[in-house]
Amino acid sequence: MIQTSGSGYSTGLPIRYQVIQARAALRSTLSTWSAMVVDERRVQPPRHDIAEMAYFLRRHTTWLSGHVAVAELIQEIRDVVQTLRRCLQPEGGRRIHVGTCIKPECTGNLYAHMRDQNSGIPSEVRCELTRTHSWPPHEWHSLLQ
Ligand SMILES: [Zn+2]
Repeated sequence: MIQTSGSGYSTGLPIRYQVIQARAALRSTLSTWSAMVVDERRVQPPRHDIAEMAYFLRRHTTWLSGHVAVAELIQEIRDVVQTLRRCLQPEGGRRIHVGTCIKPECTGNLYAHMRDQNSGIPSEVRCELTRTHSWPPHEWHSLLQ
């Protein structure tokens, strides 16, 4: 029986640790660039809060767009965002539980791994227990029986 419940990966420790690391990197990046704006523009600093620092930098985008270091700022934020995205979608997509494996005597769960077209990895439905129990999208209709 096919069901679509749940999405995303579990929040096991390794992923959670990566998210904490990525969040710290984001905070550090925003803090560094906020401090640069405060120094050079002689304005009040934002609180050391991710949302406030992001809002602060956003308020100064016109000035930042003319700054000699803007490419570096964009690259650093892009890197941190990419890391966060990888933490949330390790294979560049989402995973959806679709039911139990249809292979005889297999008790594994089937997950649809929905991936970005740009990831270069095709979407598939795959059994958690046996790697060879997998179906590409053009065979998913066979799972509906
Ligand atoms: Zn299986």
